[in-house]
Order: sequence, then structure tokens, then C-alpha cells
Amino acid sequence: MKYISRNTKAVIDLTALVHNYQYISSLAPQSKTIAVIKANGYEHCAIEVAKTLEAYVPAFAVAFVDEALTLRNAGIQSPILVLEGPFQHSDFTIAIEQDLSLMLHTHEQISWLKDNEDKYLGDVWLKVDTGMNRLGFRVEEISSVIASLNNKHHSKLVLCSHFSCAEDKENPKTTKQISQVKALVKQYDCQFSMANSAGILNWPESHGHFNRLGLSLYGVSPIEPCVIVEPLKPVMTLEAEIIAIRKVLEGETVGYGDTWQAKRLSTIAVIAIGYADGYPRNAKAGTPVFVNGEIAPLVGRVSMDMITIDVTGITKINVGDIVELWGKNVSVDTIAKHSDSINYELLTRLSARLPKTFIENNV
Ligand SMILES: *Cc1c(COP(=O)(O)O)cnc(C)c1O
Repeated sequence: MKYISRNTKAVIDLTALVHNYQYISSLAPQSKTIAVIKANGYEHCAIEVAKTLEAYVPAFAVAFVDEALTLRNAGIQSPILVLEGPFQHSDFTIAIEQDLSLMLHTHEQISWLKDNEDKYLGDVWLKVDTGMNRLGFRVEEISSVIASLNNKHHSKLVLCSHFSCAEDKENPKTTKQISQVKALVKQYDCQFSMANSAGILNWPESHGHFNRLGLSLYGVSPIEPCVIVEPLKPVMTLEAEIIAIRKVLEGETVGYGDTWQAKRLSTIAVIAIGYADGYPRNAKAGTPVFVNGEIAPLVGRVSMDMITIDVTGITKINVGDIVELWGKNVSVDTIAKHSDSINYELLTRLSARLPKTFIENNV
């Protein structure tokens, strides 16, 4: 029996998702925009996201083979790119069986490709490191790696790199990364892919044959410092219910550690969401919560299952009212600012205990 007592959930608006995909891909009309749905679609439910976007996208991208298998097992047939590539030799067998494309970034992975030379039919995504210094061949190694590919794989080559500072429009590092990739592309006459969300929005010259759209697909801005990209619509609304309302006298404290003290007679609402759901524990007093059209500040520490907010002066408020923790009225960026985190982390750290519901795509 599926029984839901607690009215705490992430509401996923699939119409907004399609809108964001269409808007962002229209900014790069010469590129194919791949939808990045790693980490369970930035915790928007990768399967639902993939089912919704399958009719629109040329391909999906995930971080590792297991995530691709989850999609295939759910019946997703679109091309899938595995961004971190194969971790072990057997990942190649699975990639062949399941028709996955692999990003390759080590000599060992290239040797696995050679072991499967005739059987691997995916594109050969070759990662070049242009300054992130995380994954990828160094620029000076690339020629020998490309030279070692057979003709069939050569024709399926997609040269790929990842930006380290693209969220900052002023940072010259990105220009340097773009010119390094473009020089290689000219030399080897191959397809390429560089742009993530920030690349697509901030750096049109980085648009490649493929762009890799993650964060902004979900309606969230990758641009620092927290620039709202107007046409984007937040896909997720995190909601919870007020389960108690109480008076707190001047001088009394609220929550663990007595970190917050009432400066006046206050009305405190207790909300059924906590850090065990993924609401950040280090959200500070003053973090906004959207209640019945108004903003109320978080007070006291975030507990495992509850938070407390100061609703003094908000007249229409009742146990059972639903509040928004983030979504269309309070952005996840704002909550990230108040909790020393970033939008990516807050979205992907939502816990398995938090149910999701979906608003159907009607585009
Ligand atoms: C996660 C990821 C992306 C998507 O980045 P966003 O900033 O979320 O758009 C693109 N490319 C690679 C290699 C990634 O790992």
C-alpha cells in the first residue's frame, strides 16, 4: 500500500523543462543540444526527464555507465553519452550492448577501445584538458592519440573539453580554452563540444557541434553572481507543510543549541522538512521561506525533519498550509547564498525520502 501522510515533496514541472530546453537550444541554433541528466537528472528524476525530452533532444548525457543503464532499463532509446567514460574494461561490453557513446580521456581507455575496435559503434568522444586539470589528455598528447585511431573511429571523433570558469563572463581563461580547442579542431577537421550551460549562455563562440546542457535545463542560472536568466522557468518547486504554529515569548529561544532568541513576542511556524530531506543544515537564520504570498525568515537551526520560521505579522496562516522552500518565488540560488552552497549542490543533494510529483508536459 502506498500511503503518503507527510505533504512534503518536490514538484517537477515538465512543461517548464521543455520550455527551458527549447529556449536554450534556440540560443545555439547551429549546435545539437545534449540534455545532461546525470545525478538522477539533477535530482528531478532522470527517467521522467528523459521520457519527456526524448522527442526533442539528439542525445542525453550521464556521468557513468550505471546511470545510462537506468535509462535503458526504463525504455529510453535515444543516444546516450557517458561523460566520465568507462571505469573498467567491462563498461565497453555494456556500452556495445546498450549502444552508448563513451567519453575517453586516458590511454588505458583508448586501449579498451582498440580491444573492441569492430564492435563499438558509438561516437568517439575524446577529452582534451585545456586547463581544468581534472580529466583529459594534454593538448600535446592529442596528436598521438588521434593518430592511433582507425579510420572508422576517426570519422566518429568528437573533440571535447570542459570549462573551469565559464560562469564568469569576464574571465579570460575561457577564451583561452576555446582557442585551444578550435586550433585542434582546425588541425584534425573533426566535430567538437565545449559548452555547458554557462558556455551556451555566456560564450556563443564556444558553441560546438554538440553543447552539453545541464543546470539551465532545470531553469536555474549558472551565471555568477546569481544573474537571473529571465526566460528560464524553475522546473522544481520544493514544498512542505506547516505542522505546528506557536507563540514564543520575548527572550525565549527556538531549536537546537538555542541559536535564535526572540526579540519580541513571536509567532513561529514549524515546517515538515529538514536536512534529512536535503534542505541544507547550514541555512542561516534569515533564509527566506515563501508562505502564503509572503516571505518569512528561517529562525533557529535546521533539524533533521523540521525547520522553524518566524511568521509574526503574517495574518492568514494555518497548520496545513503549504510553503515553498525553493521554486518560482524563492530561487534555489537564494537558498544557496544563505547556506554557503551552490544551486547544483542543493538540487542534487535532495534525499531519497523526499517524494516527487510531476506536472505533465503540455507543450
Ligand atoms: C555536468 C557536465 C555538464 C553540464 O554542466 P552544466 O553546468 O550543469 O550545464 C557538461 N559537461 C560535462 C563534462 C559535465 O560533467
